[in-house]
This record gives sequence, C-alpha cells and structure tokens, in this order.
Amino acid sequence: MEPAVTSAAGAAARFAPGVCARLVVKIGSSLLVDGAGAVRRDWLAGVVADIAARRAAGQEVVVVSSGAIALGARRLKLDKGGRASLEDAQAAAAVGQVALSAVWEALLSEAGLTMAQVLLTLGDLEDRRRYLNVSATLDRLLALGAVPVLNENDTVATSEIRFGDNDRLAARAAQAAGAGGVLLLSDVDGLYTAHPGRDPMAKLVPEVLKLTPVIEAMASADSGSGLGSGGMAAKLAAAKIAGAAGIHLAIADGRVAHPLQHFADTGRGTVFVAGEGSRARKAWLAGRLTVHGTLTLDAGAVAALQRGKSLLAAGVTAVEGRFARGDVVALAGPDGVIGRGLAGYDAGDAAMIRGLRNEAQAAVLGYAPRAALVHADHLVLL
Ligand code: GLU
Repeated sequence: MEPAVTSAAGAAARFAPGVCARLVVKIGSSLLVDGAGAVRRDWLAGVVADIAARRAAGQEVVVVSSGAIALGARRLKLDKGGRASLEDAQAAAAVGQVALSAVWEALLSEAGLTMAQVLLTLGDLEDRRRYLNVSATLDRLLALGAVPVLNENDTVATSEIRFGDNDRLAARAAQAAGAGGVLLLSDVDGLYTAHPGRDPMAKLVPEVLKLTPVIEAMASADSGSGLGSGGMAAKLAAAKIAGAAGIHLAIADGRVAHPLQHFADTGRGTVFVAGEGSRARKAWLAGRLTVHGTLTLDAGAVAALQRGKSLLAAGVTAVEGRFARGDVVALAGPDGVIGRGLAGYDAGDAAMIRGLRNEAQAAVLGYAPRAALVHADHLVLL
C-alpha cells in the first residue's frame, strides 16, 4: 500500500526502500563531468555509497548515466562539449562511454557491487519484442545482484530514432524494468514556477499530481550547464511517460554530496505523483495494444494469476492465433477471457510447450526456456 503523503519528506518516501522495490536513478552529464571534462570521482563515490546503502536495504537500483559525450569530447579535443554536430557527438560517445563505464565499474566494485553495462537505442524499447528482451535482461541482472548502468547507444543511434536525452530514456527504461520510481538527479533541484535565476519570486513546486498546461508552461527548455541535453522540457516529458505507466518520478538536486540520501532526508525536489500506482501501468498495457491470439488457461493457472503470479506454460491448455513474442494475447479461463498479456514466446513455440513444466521445455524448444509464458509484469487481469 502507498503511504499517505502529507509533506515534502513524505513525498520522497515513495522512493524509499520497502515502498519502492525497484528504483531508476538518472544522473545528468553536468553532475558527472566537471567544467574541464573530467569525471567528478569523489562525488560519484558518494552516489555509489548511496546506491550500496539502498541495495543493502533491499531496493534494486538501475542507473541511467549520462556523460559519455562530455567525457569523449575532452579526450578528442572537440569543442562545444562534443555537441557541435551529430557526428561529433557520436564519435565522442564512442570514446567517452569507455571512460564512463570504467569509472562506474571501479567505484561499484570498490563498494562490493557488480556493474552491468546496458547500451540502448530508442528502438530497443519501442519494438515490443526487443522491449521484452530488455525487460528480461534487466530482471535477470537485478536478480543476480548486479547494478545495471544504462546509457543511450549514442554512437549508432541515428538522429531520427534516438532519445537524445536520458530523462526520457530513464522513464522508458523504468517501464521495462518494472520500477516503481524514477529519480532524476540534476543540476537544478526541481521544477520552479518561473526561472529561478531570473525571477526572484520563483518557487519550487514540491509535488505535481497532474500535468496541466500551467505546469508545462513552467518548464523552460534550457538546461543551464550546456553539457547535457535534457532541460526541464525533457524532464516533464519523462514525467508524462512514467506517470502513464504508474511510475512516480522525482527531480532532485544532484549537486550535493550523497544526493540520494539527501533527497530521502529532506524531500527537497519535485515529485510527479503517478495516478494509480501499478494499476495505471497495467491499464497502459491493456489499453495500448491489440490482441493477436488467445491462450486458454486451466483453473489452477487462473488462480495463480489472481494471486499475482506469472503464467507458466504448464497451466496453458490451448494456444490460438498467430502472434510473435511480444504481441498482446488474450488470456482465457474456463469461463471466458480474464485478461491480457504480452506473449513471452511466438505462437509456434507457445503451442509446443503448452502443458509442459519448465524442466521439460528445453528438449522441445531446442533452447533454454524463459521463466514464464507471460511474466506477471506484462499481464493485466480485466
Ligand atoms: N547519452 C548522453 C551521454 O552519455 C547524454 C544524454 C543527456 O544529456 O541526457 O553523453
């Protein structure tokens, strides 16, 4: 259950271990890289200590780290932080990503954690089959205790099909990871009613329950530092994506030491509260896509789904329709349709493993089976 939120610090409680099982933390370029283009290692060590503390408290953390372009620009001696042209940015990212990973790997392993690097393009999360793959990989990495560190694969992403900013990437990745919250650490401490540098009357907005045109008008497009490409407009777009999927999103000040701890202690920042928690995420799944087939379930599987479990092939009695892995299928019980989900297998493979326990599936599939035919995160009961 969600706690009642009555104060700014209370709003931060939505992102606390115990309340939010899985958290995505996005770190902007201007926090990671100093004016001379070097990594702010001491500051980052504080972030890593905060992550380690959250892991120890039972929260799984996915990092989205910017900074590749800024770091690469310094090494390649490119001006404008490597962002003078798309070609420059792509070359800078190729060079800088190596340095970025090295720092994360070193600091996480000093804290006793294993880093996993995941580079994504927009298409990896837009295409349903690739989305499910990313989702399964993140799940597995987290179950194994690793800390996934994500970034856009800027070197190969083309201008039309790239995120371009890691704020929206973080929101999309949070959906794929089934996260409950996204924390955007930034060089601003939240959304202001007006530009805080230009208007002395500007006030921090602690909590946003609905993204109205008034709220949107508060976002100005300049990111201040010139290092990242986010800005408040991208953060609002990220809040929209997250909110539609039932995921809370916060913008908090990353300029302080131990910024995650600071946010938990003070609650200072802007929290965009998602509508209906995970129900909105399920609604997004139910509403967004069309049905390509039907899986018929036995009574035991229906009961398992009602307890929040995944659908295992063993509980499926019939497979109808032509669907590919990642397509939406109807889930029917003995008394009719009870829900929808994203198929973990193509129709052909699903038909082959129908009724079989996991141990028996590899022999008919010819490859190691997935944990479920439809994962609990990817199904909705209607
Ligand atoms: N992916 C970019 C990088 O690593 C950052 C994008 C952003 O600034 O949000 O440099």
